[in-house]
Amino acid sequence: MDYEGRICRSPMEKSSYMLPVTVGCPYNGCHFCNLFRDLHYRELPFSQIEEELRRVQNAGGKPKKIFLGDGCAFSLKTEQLLKILNLIHQYFPECDIINSDATVTSIRMKTDEELRALSENGYKHLYIGIESGLQDVLSFMHKEHDVVEAEREIARIKNAGMIYDAHIMSGVAGKERGIENAEALAAFLNRTKPEFVVNFSMFISSDTPLYQDIVKGSFQPATELENLKEDRRVVELLATDGTELFYDSFHDCIRKRVWGTLAKDREKMLKQLDKWIEEFEKKESIYATDFSYKNCPAQTMFDLENIV
Ligand code: SF4
Repeated sequence: MDYEGRICRSPMEKSSYMLPVTVGCPYNGCHFCNLFRDLHYRELPFSQIEEELRRVQNAGGKPKKIFLGDGCAFSLKTEQLLKILNLIHQYFPECDIINSDATVTSIRMKTDEELRALSENGYKHLYIGIESGLQDVLSFMHKEHDVVEAEREIARIKNAGMIYDAHIMSGVAGKERGIENAEALAAFLNRTKPEFVVNFSMFISSDTPLYQDIVKGSFQPATELENLKEDRRVVELLATDGTELFYDSFHDCIRKRVWGTLAKDREKMLKQLDKWIEEFEKKESIYATDFSYKNCPAQTMFDLENIV
């Protein structure tokens, strides 16, 4: 199958077989996002999905873990998703983990019974773009959910037996609001208890509405130094309650990544972040953008150094 657009998935899914079931994002409205902006959202025909499964089977593939693409496969109707899950089990009986991205809205559109049926048929992890714990930031960024809705829908998927993982974004609250955002985010995450947290620190692209906000002066971006400090505050505040909370944070622009299991690696991660904060305090301000002379040099998230 030819993949359309950019391949985008959580680092936890790097070893999964990615099975596209939709193209693009059904919302495409978050102000900072250009991932699928050029694509017209559509569901892939069932026959095309089956053809792809057959191709992988004929090539000898035996995936145990499958990631359903693209931006929000969970937006598909439950009936359609169940059909896809059944097909996967038919072709790959050994596959017992099926994951995808999800928006809060895509969960809200499903009943408790539907969520339970999906969970019982192998749907396991849902990666949700939480981004911020501050309501005014979610509204400004045109996220499709508010804080209360996110919390309510996360509780519903957990009740249904699914695992929730959070995507967050340092820098999303803009200049001088990093610590405030970190504290609100940590409080949200401590209440909702994800298994994985991934921080995709903000990268501002010139083809997004957020860029126009910057041009108009309604949004002032945070520096990479602020983003590191925000990241540090989240790492400091996340509660583990005896669980193994995994944290992975990417600052692509400055090629920094910190990761680890918080219960065990927190001190090491904080020390690493302190070292980088000290380094960037001595440097001129750097912004993670594609439109200034201080452009981001990193091309992919795998092009990163200084991995803890
Ligand atoms: S952040 Fe996610 S939900 Fe928002 S537009 Fe981008 S892909 Fe769609």
